[in-house]
Amino acid sequence: MKKVYLDHNATTPVHPEVLEVMLPYFKEKFGNPSSIHGFGREAKVALEEARERVASLLGASSNEIFFTCGGTESDNLAVKGTAYANRKKGLHIITSKIEHHAILESCKFLEKEGFVITYLPVDSLGVVDPKELGKAIREDTTLVSIMYVNNEVGSIQLIEELSKITKEKEIYFHTDAVQAMGKIPINVKKLNNIDMLSMSGHKINGPKGVGAIFIRKGVRITPWSHGGHHERSRRAGTENVPGIVGFAKALELAVRDVEDQNKHLKELTEIFYRKLTEAIPDVILNGDLNQRVFNTLNLSFKGVEGESMILSLDLKGVAVASGSACTSGTLEPSHVLSAMWIAPEIAQGAIRFSFGRDNTMEDVEYVASILPEMVSRLRSMSPLYAKEK
Ligand SMILES: *Cc1c(COP(=O)(O)O)cnc(C)c1O
Repeated sequence: MKKVYLDHNATTPVHPEVLEVMLPYFKEKFGNPSSIHGFGREAKVALEEARERVASLLGASSNEIFFTCGGTESDNLAVKGTAYANRKKGLHIITSKIEHHAILESCKFLEKEGFVITYLPVDSLGVVDPKELGKAIREDTTLVSIMYVNNEVGSIQLIEELSKITKEKEIYFHTDAVQAMGKIPINVKKLNNIDMLSMSGHKINGPKGVGAIFIRKGVRITPWSHGGHHERSRRAGTENVPGIVGFAKALELAVRDVEDQNKHLKELTEIFYRKLTEAIPDVILNGDLNQRVFNTLNLSFKGVEGESMILSLDLKGVAVASGSACTSGTLEPSHVLSAMWIAPEIAQGAIRFSFGRDNTMEDVEYVASILPEMVSRLRSMSPLYAKEK
């Protein structure tokens, strides 16, 4: 059976070149970077070279790059770390309603600790209005955290404008850029109002369990992991050297190929969308065809329930997601689609198609050829759809 993987916003396969540079660090170059003997020094060199590579790809300096175990840890460190370090200045934090759970749950934790959180709304395309941010800022606001690109609908936030507002008020700005890396060119020298930025390896054809955070020099932040003096005392724990080496390579490839990939993915998803809307009535696009990263299409097929669609597609070898990976398996409509004012019955049917670098036009044709029949079969069993027609 043909297999088509269209769930790249959940995770991506490791690029062969990435795997290759990692392998020696599982084998003969296994040293602990904190050891002072030759094995250790060899690992330490690899670690610091990876840090310099990541820094230069982002326009940062290497002492502003901290390796973590992924996007979730980077987000936790950014939100909780700055909240605590600056709590004498204020207890108010601003984020958006469509953040990843790593941000939302960190904020919920902080609420229990006495912090006050404002969750900014988004418009029907999943975009935060900078004016809303301006209105939400208070005397005691210390941090604003808004994601660069949303993982469910692919909407791109106005990060430059948003971060300019916070800079004027001397408030820290963090962005979860996990879904932006490799899709949008990012340079923190140009985006000079951003104070912190989260990244993850496995979303950019790198390994799982490794990521990084950019923390601009001078940002006051409390560490969350205590132990040794790793990562300049911001994050204790022996570094995942193979993972970090792989992450740096993955980021290098992602940055190198960003233009080609965007062209490739724009073509695939636009043709896919056109084929589907020509062959199937009542297809609803959640989000916008232009204000999005080109790999992501979030679609609802009126009257069809998301989970049954996923299972039907899975039987045909096609992997997609409903809502975000973390909420699949529950019947609650996604918090992102709810925030976009999408009706619950449409949100329940939302399917996220997220393409990646290995997808081809053949994949598009295959999935577009099996969907019309699948949708009409599922609709014929749907009391919702039958009633309407
Ligand atoms: C995947 C993802 C994360 C979490 O990253 P992990 O490395 O899996 O912990 C955070 N934010 C966004 C937007 C993501 O898509």
